Amino acid sequence: MLLVDRDGDNYQSRELSKMGLVGASTCEMFFDGATAPADNLLGRSGAGLFQTLKLFETARVFVGLTAVGIAQAAFEESVEYAKQRRQHGKVIAGHQLMQAYIAEMATELDAGRLLCHRALHLLELGVRCDTQTSMAKWYATEMAVRVASKAIQIHGGVGITTDFRVERHFRNARVLPIPDGTTEIQKLIIGRNTLGVSAFS
Ligand SMILES: Cc1cc2nc3c(=O)[nH]c(=O)nc-3n(C[C@H](O)[C@H](O)[C@H](O)COP(=O)(O)OP(=O)(O)OC[C@H]3O[C@@H](n4cnc5c(N)ncnc54)[C@H](O)[C@@H]3O)c2cc1C
Repeated sequence: MLLVDRDGDNYQSRELSKMGLVGASTCEMFFDGATAPADNLLGRSGAGLFQTLKLFETARVFVGLTAVGIAQAAFEESVEYAKQRRQHGKVIAGHQLMQAYIAEMATELDAGRLLCHRALHLLELGVRCDTQTSMAKWYATEMAVRVASKAIQIHGGVGITTDFRVERHFRNARVLPIPDGTTEIQKLIIGRNTLGVSAFS
């Protein structure tokens, strides 16, 4: 792991335009022929991959918690909207299928949050917990996509307009199953740790 001066020679980056999380810049970085003085070594020489993987354990939970935050916002906005929007003579909160959506969202949101809290607790204890951080990451991020999608459904036609925040929550949520190890990769980690057989190679 090396610290490279971004103003130095042979380093370039290219900003990427993406569907969600537009407040956080994402770019391609090119280090072709870039050099760095030996003092710029981060951590131990030869330990870069290990250090990166160690970092991932924590980063994955933070991505999971970001997803929980997005899902919580989508959930709260759905509850408020369902209580004020009237259709067929009553507020839509009074329709059984709307209540089923709200119940599913509340349950999945809690499950995602609890998985993240457990992973954080294990990280704090300093024990190996890559299975639990992978569970928290894939479940919470996929949960946020489902919850934000249901939030749009509860809002009906206005839900897909930029007049309502649920449209943005859905776009933001949809990004999160990809960075810091995709959902598929998290499942391979859990599978490998559970079965003792690696499907990576
Ligand atoms: C918002 C955002 C921020 C990011 N930030 C960073 C960052 O800070 N640093 C950084 O280095 N990268 C970053 N990335 C890159 C990110 O880590 C990769 O996009 C991600 O790991 C997937 O790699 P890939 O895009 O090459 O997809 P690919 O590896 O090409 O995967 C394509 C699809 O194939 C699946 N797949 C791949 N291999 C397997 C397999 N063995 N078994 C089953 N399925 C498989 C994947 O799960 C995915 O569904 C970021 C990406 C995003 C979207």
